[in-house]
Amino acid sequence: MIFCVAIDGPAAAGKGTISKAVAAYFGFAHLDTGLLYRAVGKRVLDGLDPVAAARTLTAQDLEAGDLRTSAVAQAASKVAVIAEVRAALVTFQREFARREGGAVLDGRDIGTVICPDADAKLFVTASAETRAARRFKELSGKGQPDTYDQVLADVKARDARDAGRAEAPMVAAEDAALLDTSTLSIEEAVAQAIAIVEKSRSSAL
Ligand code: C5P
Repeated sequence: MIFCVAIDGPAAAGKGTISKAVAAYFGFAHLDTGLLYRAVGKRVLDGLDPVAAARTLTAQDLEAGDLRTSAVAQAASKVAVIAEVRAALVTFQREFARREGGAVLDGRDIGTVICPDADAKLFVTASAETRAARRFKELSGKGQPDTYDQVLADVKARDARDAGRAEAPMVAAEDAALLDTSTLSIEEAVAQAIAIVEKSRSSAL
């Protein structure tokens, strides 16, 4: 059975948590496509050329321990505007989406560019302030020194770059279900996402 769930949305809207939970619930594989861009961003911070870094990315690069820092996130969103970088990452993502047993991919352009024919599409969002508060809590828990104001500025800068770029901008696909998590608990957001996917799955069966 091939069944692809596309989950897009801005940073810290809850995409990652929701995607993992949806994948676990349906027994699908999960790919966090942001990690691909973060791994390329990290390699660029280490001195590589962005296009070369994307073309030679390996599974090992995705396991580099420090991909979840603010510096890597900003570097990721800078390399993500480069068409050749995005092109180098397309095949891997599309093959993952078509794997037997079902797949959930989360990112910015999954429902629009990577899997425009996805069986279920969600666009997960929340206010910039809510997202910054969540990310601030996550980063402080890891002992990272960013202040809330810095995190909010980072979130807004990344939103502007991701939504404003010419190549595969972050935008909800026309046929995506919108899920605003600003006032939802994790459990509520996950339950709503599962219900949306369940509906598409029963019509696909
Ligand atoms: O989702 P995450 O915050 O890890 O993504 C890091 C950056 O990678 C994003 O800000 C965005 O610029 C880029 N990205 C992208 N397309 C995707 C996933 C991530 O451009 N499908």
